[in-house]
Amino acid sequence: MPSPRKTRTKTPLRRWRESKAAQRARGKEIISRLREKYPNAAAELNYGSAFQFLISVILSAQTTDVTVNRVTPNLFRKFPTAKALADSSQAEVEDLVRQTGFFRSKAKSIRVASAQIVDEFNGEVPRTMDELLRLRGVARKTANVVLGEAFGLASGVVVDTHVKRLAQRLGLSEATDPVKIERDLMKVLDKEDWIFAGIAIIWHGRRVCDARNPDCDTCELNNICPSSTSPTRPTRSPFTAKLSA
Ligand code: SF4
Repeated sequence: MPSPRKTRTKTPLRRWRESKAAQRARGKEIISRLREKYPNAAAELNYGSAFQFLISVILSAQTTDVTVNRVTPNLFRKFPTAKALADSSQAEVEDLVRQTGFFRSKAKSIRVASAQIVDEFNGEVPRTMDELLRLRGVARKTANVVLGEAFGLASGVVVDTHVKRLAQRLGLSEATDPVKIERDLMKVLDKEDWIFAGIAIIWHGRRVCDARNPDCDTCELNNICPSSTSPTRPTRSPFTAKLSA
């Protein structure tokens, strides 16, 4: 029978004092273990094109991927392309995305972003961070997700609520601002791991390192995570010892 999880009311943040080299080595090991655990990690939104993925990501703000996946089949059946969505009526789109919450502003964002894609980018989703950030409803997190998932381009690390929490618990960033957390992760992790890291850390946050109830006892990272409550947690970073040996 699985052991009951410990319930926490506050995020337990503990740190190890370690050199940048030790922290980078630990970051590498974290990614390697996550690759083993989640070899098929990918975005959990359903889509048929880069455009549809972008729209799904905009709709996913403040709601779950499951909810977005419930509304997008009807939305994309009616408006499969940027041109079609740009020419839609606000009322019709509001009705289709109502379940995702904040439906008025989301409907406005996806219609305006579609019109921008048609007018400024020949109907194609742009492939650079700067261009994506010009679209209505698109901030760094959305742009990073789209560049990584739809185009395989590593321009940064996706930082959502899960990545923010895990970066802090894993001692990879002490910042609270997502832009600073992303900067820290880009320094600690190899560029070739940036796309996978964003997705896999989100998966780990959803499945194991829950916000209120992290399952440290079964977590694959419990002996390289300073915030672990598992008895396997060492008192100092194992990589500090390794690198100074
Ligand atoms: S050991 Fe795992 S579950 Fe526990 S805080 Fe660290 S990453 Fe989260």
